[in-house]
Amino acid sequence: MKITEKIKNSNQTLFSFEILPPLKGKSIDSIFNCIDKLIEFSPAFVDVTYHREEFILKKRGDGSFDRIVTRKRPGTVAICASIQNKYKVDAVPHIICGGFTKEDTENALIDLDFLGIRNVLALRGDNAKTESQFNPEIGGNRNALELINQIKNMNNGIYLDEELENPNPTEFCIGAACYPEKHQDAPNFISDLNYTKRKIEAGAEFLTTQMFFDNSKYFKYIDECKKTGINVPVIPGIKPITSRKQLFLLPKHFKIDIPFELSNEIEKAKNDEEVKQIGIDWCIKQCKELKSKGVPVLHFYTMGVPDITRKIAKEVF
Ligand code: FAD
Repeated sequence: MKITEKIKNSNQTLFSFEILPPLKGKSIDSIFNCIDKLIEFSPAFVDVTYHREEFILKKRGDGSFDRIVTRKRPGTVAICASIQNKYKVDAVPHIICGGFTKEDTENALIDLDFLGIRNVLALRGDNAKTESQFNPEIGGNRNALELINQIKNMNNGIYLDEELENPNPTEFCIGAACYPEKHQDAPNFISDLNYTKRKIEAGAEFLTTQMFFDNSKYFKYIDECKKTGINVPVIPGIKPITSRKQLFLLPKHFKIDIPFELSNEIEKAKNDEEVKQIGIDWCIKQCKELKSKGVPVLHFYTMGVPDITRKIAKEVF
């Protein structure tokens, strides 16, 4: 079922979460273990991230290097199919522009359609690790807006090859990312909002936010969305802090702020266990407030650690 329908049909805040495919060579059991621990909270859907290829240098015997292309976490599409098959829960694959030509994207979407996957999160994707800015594939989509256009075209039966006879229209419910604290590439908050609105006009039907730790930023963002004419569900993305080093890593990587009240408590903590508990307590408080204000879904970035999400969900749902 489409995520937008699930939201429309529900009169309470839904639970959902995001998982990462296992590292190459590891079994899918880690995914099943994660879902097994969270299934009792009846997730409305499970997102599965997509990880683009990386370039690594491997030293040869003669001291020179081979440049090797590898994907450390393959398997997004297959994991989505397994989840739908095993748990009868809708899986939402993340589709990215990076590393894909439009032809690759079309073929991936055909696979998803044939597998009965009806929801996708359309993203530009992170930069390649060795590049300081995002570089699209030659013949690929340059940003989420172009990707959404391509998916929407397929929903209207328009494929890349215009000569196909009676092409099958797909039925994807398209989601996109949004940034209550602004995306780093946007010149300012208003440009970012306007660009997000263009993603909605192109066909995105729901938005999922970057993680945030200060609810007032989410509420302000929702107000600004409404003023800009963005009226789709905006799903808050939630992540508990689980270690002291995340105080520095999360703002650096995701360009978000950690409120002083939280960072101060963590800095004063005596050990790792205390840090974890502070992160969990903060997250529970955040979730309870968001739920009391009627957010459509609480979407957890599990980062492969279901036990913490489970503790929080037990208190909130
Ligand atoms: P876009 O929406 O294309 O652009 C990001 C920003 O750049 C816009 O908000 C806008 O401010 C600016 N911009 C871009 N184009 C224009 C334009 N034409 N005009 C004006 N402004 C423009 N990354 C992965 O690699 N794999 C994942 O699975 C993944 N999952 C994610 C899930 C969520 C919920 C979120 C929030 C992020 C995720 N990311 C993932 C990270 C994401 O790919 C990065 O944040 C990336 O830098 C931007 O992706 P986007 O789809 O928001 O990009």
